[in-house]
Amino acid sequence: MSCTFCKIVGKQSPSTPVYEDELVYAFADIHPKAPVHILIVPREHIGSLNEGGKDKQALLGHLLWAAAEIACQKKLGNGYRIVVNTGGDAGQSVDHLHLHLLGGRLLTWPPG
Ligand code: AMP
Ligand code: ZN
Repeated sequence: MSCTFCKIVGKQSPSTPVYEDELVYAFADIHPKAPVHILIVPREHIGSLNEGGKDKQALLGHLLWAAAEIACQKKLGNGYRIVVNTGGDAGQSVDHLHLHLLGGRLLTWPPG
């Protein structure tokens, strides 16, 4: 298993856990881009949003639900952003689907 996030989910690599359940694992981003920067990943390996087929709809919805739940726990009532970089042009650097949850500061738009 060479996938960075599979290793984190499997506890072969360290992480700072934030939330976990039977489907998803969430942990602190190692290079935070905001005061709150959390990654939410499915426990099963899915390479990107493009590989989340129709049979993954419930799991994809659960990832979004988990992100909102964590945002609530982190008291991001003033706002937050969910980002899913997909593919090279978007700068996806880890090929295991992940949601970025960013908050705790003003987030400008459009992103770079
Ligand atoms: P992306 O560029 O959208 O693929 O995002 C990958 C994110 O994973 C980046 O924000 C990295 O800082 C983060 N990252 C990479 N390796 C680790 C790690 N071992 N622990 C926590 N975050 C990581
Ligand atoms: Zn993986």
